Amino acid sequence: MTTAVVVGSGPNGLTAAVVLARAGLTVRVVEAAERIGGGARTEPLLRSDILHDTCSAVHPFGAASPAFRELRLEESGLRWRWPEVDCAHPLDDEPAAVLYRSVDETAAGLGPDGQTWKDVIGGVADDFDELADDVLGPLVSVPRHPIRLAEFGHHAIYPATSMSRVFSHAQARALFAGVAAHSFTRLDRAGTAATGLMMLGAGHRYGWPVAEGGSSAIVNALAAALIDAGGTVTTGVRIESVDEVEPADVVLLDVMPGAAARMLGKRLSESRSRKFARYRHGPAAFKVDYLIDGEVGWTDEACRRAGTVHLGGTVDEIAAAEAASVAGRMPSRPFTLIAQQWLADPTRAPGSAKPLWAYAHVPHGFNGDATEAVTAQIERFAPGFRDRIIDSVSTSPAELELRNPNIVGGDIGGGRNDLRHLIARPRLSPNPYATGAPGVFLCSSATPPGGGVHGMCGYRAAHAALRHLSR
Ligand SMILES: Cc1cc2nc3c(=O)[nH]c(=O)nc-3n(C[C@H](O)[C@H](O)[C@H](O)COP(=O)(O)OP(=O)(O)OC[C@H]3O[C@@H](n4cnc5c(N)ncnc54)[C@H](O)[C@@H]3O)c2cc1C
Repeated sequence: MTTAVVVGSGPNGLTAAVVLARAGLTVRVVEAAERIGGGARTEPLLRSDILHDTCSAVHPFGAASPAFRELRLEESGLRWRWPEVDCAHPLDDEPAAVLYRSVDETAAGLGPDGQTWKDVIGGVADDFDELADDVLGPLVSVPRHPIRLAEFGHHAIYPATSMSRVFSHAQARALFAGVAAHSFTRLDRAGTAATGLMMLGAGHRYGWPVAEGGSSAIVNALAAALIDAGGTVTTGVRIESVDEVEPADVVLLDVMPGAAARMLGKRLSESRSRKFARYRHGPAAFKVDYLIDGEVGWTDEACRRAGTVHLGGTVDEIAAAEAASVAGRMPSRPFTLIAQQWLADPTRAPGSAKPLWAYAHVPHGFNGDATEAVTAQIERFAPGFRDRIIDSVSTSPAELELRNPNIVGGDIGGGRNDLRHLIARPRLSPNPYATGAPGVFLCSSATPPGGGVHGMCGYRAAHAALRHLSR
């Protein structure tokens, strides 16, 4: 009987566990928190009948994930639900830029930039499935689709700010920059266009859906699939050292490299241990969950139909806010993300009160209160918003980390997303999942392809572990 222990039940840990269990291993998942899920949890935070996603909310990469498709999570209860508008990006002096699932519909709203949107972003969407084979994994490997990858790389290598200038008007520029800002890094740095292109490509191919019942439905489906395959999950047990887990043929760690170094101690070479301990983290999220009376009174009508709303203004304003966060300065108008999940999934809030999900990009380890800055960004594009707030709860970077040790200093992306970390995550290798300690693998978002609820890090790590076992 071949055995595996997975430490951590985030989307990556659970995906790895399902892959290993379906390959015939006896798998046990050990989770520190009382509930499974890591960055995919849903709770009735402020009222018993209203569900808030306490971490992730919107899932372009979940719907597009080759791993989730292969695992057939729909058979384990997962239902994606799509809003009418994927994402709206309001501006102060012009109509909002609007992202629809359809490339043509999006392009039609972008005026003179429509054709360029079709050519550049539509091209990525057309090639998305082939690109996902190569991009949603270690970049240091032999590409399966070299020509498509080269075409993508030709755009992706640019800074997001330069890439946004292929468009001539503020709307398309801002729409692109807002999506690229999901990389949580300086947008004037090489390679930052990649996140924008892949996320938009995924959106046009698969949409930006939410999970029916909340993001926890994704991990519940993974856990159901695991149990179906004979695996088990134990919660409420925090592992400090791999010596605490029962002997197993392979151990997969859904943790950050610094934690892995501590857990592995002398099993790691000194140089690898130093490298892991020095792994660099990015800026933080400051989360605000609101309970609001009715819907948000957005000035721009498209925002009222959008599952996601990006609040940050023009490309220059977003780039300046991101640069400030990276430099450790709190921006006065931080880039702020909003999700209105109930539009696609009314089951979350059956009555007139709605759970509005928001977070702002703030400096790593920010220890102030950004609630007012987030509220002001919403009020800027929805005057009167304050009067609709029934209640709210804010979660600082330190509180996020307290709940989940993977969110180091509030970094929800599993590490800095600069060019170095895109290529060498957490180290330069075609198999960055292997820790160097025999039979121990990293499977968290600190490995390729990085942050997001897509399970691809866990999927690739599980396959690395299976290759190790077959040697
Ligand atoms: C506020 C917020 C908003 C986000 N929004 C989105 C979004 O809209 N869309 C999206 O795709 N992604 C989003 N993300 C990012 C996404 O949640 C993460 O990238 C994803 O969850 C990473 O998965 P993971 O399995 O690598 O790690 P995690 O989800 O962080 O899970 C790690 C698990 O391991 C456990 N663990 C850690 N150390 C130990 C230990 N020593 N012993 C036992 N257990 C341990 C933790 O408790 C945790 O449950 C968001 C994250 C946050 C926090």
